[in-house]
Amino acid sequence: MTDPNCIFCKIANKEIPANIVHENEHTIAFLDIHPKAEGHTLLIPKEHHRWFIDMPDDLSDELFRTAKQVSKMLKNEHKADFVRLGIVGVDVPHVHIHLIPQKMADNGPEI
Ligand SMILES: [Zn+2]
Repeated sequence: MTDPNCIFCKIANKEIPANIVHENEHTIAFLDIHPKAEGHTLLIPKEHHRWFIDMPDDLSDELFRTAKQVSKMLKNEHKADFVRLGIVGVDVPHVHIHLIPQKMADNGPEI
């Protein structure tokens, strides 16, 4: 399922370029073009869904398994203390998880 007007579907389909940091069969992760911190990454399902609660269980499970995996990778790469997760979905209507490497000393961005 793809929405032809959706920018994240275009990224998932490689119709527009993105700085991809991780990809598997059902998900893709790429750097945010307006990063709130170094390594700020967006993880999306390749299938178009607007809301997290409307995703099939298998896909939301897979998305969270992958979020954990990519967060570990980002934590190591950016020597972060933890990785902040956020799901908002109002700006781009395609489910995306913000993964933001953080230090304990940071106050942390609004997401
Ligand atoms: Zn989409």
